[in-house]
Amino acid sequence: MTDNNITKNEELKKVEISISTGVLVWGSGLIAGVAARELAKMGHEVFLCSPEPGITGNAHFWGRADDTNVDLESLSAEVEEDAWIQIMAPAEIIEFYGSPGKFQARLKVNGDLSLEKEIGAVILANEPVLRAGFEAWGVSESERVRTLSWVESELFEKSFLSGEDPLKIVFLCGFTHHSNPYSQQRAVEAALRAASKRTNRVFFLTEHFKVAHKGMERLTRKAREAGILFVKLSGSMPGLECDEEGVEVSYFDETVGEEVLIKPDLVVLEESYMPPPETGPLSEILELNLDRDGFFQEENIYNRPIFSNRVGVWIVGPAKGPISCQEGVEEARAAALGVHQLLSEGKKYVPENRIVLDSKKCTICLTCYRLCPHRAISYQNRRPIFSELSCKVCGICAAECPMDAIQIHDFSDKRLKAQIIDDISGAPPPVGGAPLLVAFCCRNSALEAANLASLRGLTLPGGLKLISVPCAGKIDPDYLLTAFRAGADGVMVLGCHHEGCKSFRGSDLAKWRVEFIKGTLAESGLDEERLFFGSLAPCAGSEFAKIVTEMENLIRDLGESPVRRALSRKSF
Ligand code: SF4
Ligand code: SF4
Repeated sequence: MTDNNITKNEELKKVEISISTGVLVWGSGLIAGVAARELAKMGHEVFLCSPEPGITGNAHFWGRADDTNVDLESLSAEVEEDAWIQIMAPAEIIEFYGSPGKFQARLKVNGDLSLEKEIGAVILANEPVLRAGFEAWGVSESERVRTLSWVESELFEKSFLSGEDPLKIVFLCGFTHHSNPYSQQRAVEAALRAASKRTNRVFFLTEHFKVAHKGMERLTRKAREAGILFVKLSGSMPGLECDEEGVEVSYFDETVGEEVLIKPDLVVLEESYMPPPETGPLSEILELNLDRDGFFQEENIYNRPIFSNRVGVWIVGPAKGPISCQEGVEEARAAALGVHQLLSEGKKYVPENRIVLDSKKCTICLTCYRLCPHRAISYQNRRPIFSELSCKVCGICAAECPMDAIQIHDFSDKRLKAQIIDDISGAPPPVGGAPLLVAFCCRNSALEAANLASLRGLTLPGGLKLISVPCAGKIDPDYLLTAFRAGADGVMVLGCHHEGCKSFRGSDLAKWRVEFIKGTLAESGLDEERLFFGSLAPCAGSEFAKIVTEMENLIRDLGESPVRRALSRKSF
């Protein structure tokens, strides 16, 4: 196995860029307040914006702040009095462009005032909308049927438990939607508080109950010990009837094999968490990817816990779905620190010319602008502009540019193709007639896996050549054809798993290109099986060895590449 390591770190000259230290924090609750206060303490001018008037916060999050050691009243007063914090509410972001340190935001504040702000970074900390799904149960909210949030606030105020009479309370959790661990935890904690008055009888009816979440097993055991009756129903919702006479909950108990009827004093419905209505439009304006539930932050290990696909935009707390207040506060503090590290000096030194654009070749098709996964390309003065602070040097823009107008430092087409040819035709033939295999390896995953396989002494094909690329999305179809033309018997493209791809779409793009080239191989007399795409994690040394060994066996069966055979004949 050889890797000539084309990624020699040639020193690039660094240039100074000036940046703004102002920060836009989006949200109106506890988490947004903490982020704003932390930033202001570090000397950043903060624009605290939200669609709601004032800093009020969602009752749910205010209600659970006792987990966090944050005193809500003093936080609220501090935020309102801090000269470094400007509260802009109700606000709307109308336009947003630029790059980290120099974003331009146009805001509508109080409906009619349009403000232009230059800001260095953004923290999104807005709160979800909670829905109890009364319609799905066929009932309306009443004294006998309440939401979990209502019950929590009553329990916290203690008034709910102050009556003399014992109460029969039924909690319904996870029937109308997929419950999440945090919401379950809230429901069990509320049930425990309800059961703290020993004369109360508390039932907890659930489906999809997960105890794997941190602390859930202990909490559930405590709840059982407190006398709460847990009933897990599989595949059926309990019946819920509510009229002037009272409320009835019925279900089929699988353990005893009978229908059970409870006439409770109160039914508590767990709520589902929905992204607030501004999330969709805001994601388009800020060019942020959403997760499958429509919250900010696409599922990807590199986004966790507080990052987004756009450098300079952090996502904290409930803006990315249900999360505990405590975690939200920790994230707000971490994001504020991240922002401070990025912006604190008001200037930054960045390497010059990592991306080189040949403007004579560029036809301004904007393919690069549309495909940059990190939103590092803007379109200004009729040409694409590359942000050195945002660019992660994945090379996707270079591979997708139809005019080959973009070159990436250390990974230029000329250099990569020269390496491919040199590795294949310049190397001595593999010992024992082994197939000549080329593996294009993403340096974030497959290259790591290859190094691991090597370190562990796993057997790898003798004729295997590795070509390191910054991302599988950098692999131009022309590189694959160059490898075959130079005499490779088999070519592999090895990238990351979809949710582990640092460039979000790099591996997908590579897979599509491989499929496309497969379709053209037959025209050159090559079996399409000679080209392979695979994805693997950086820790998957054994999997790497397995993939390349299977490829070697397959190529042995297919025999020497006709191109290689023709090339050997020519050389005689
Ligand atoms: S993809 Fe290439 S041709 Fe199109 S705008 Fe970008 S640099 Fe120009
Ligand atoms: S190299 Fe990647 S991150 Fe940088 S501008 Fe191109 S596509 Fe965007």
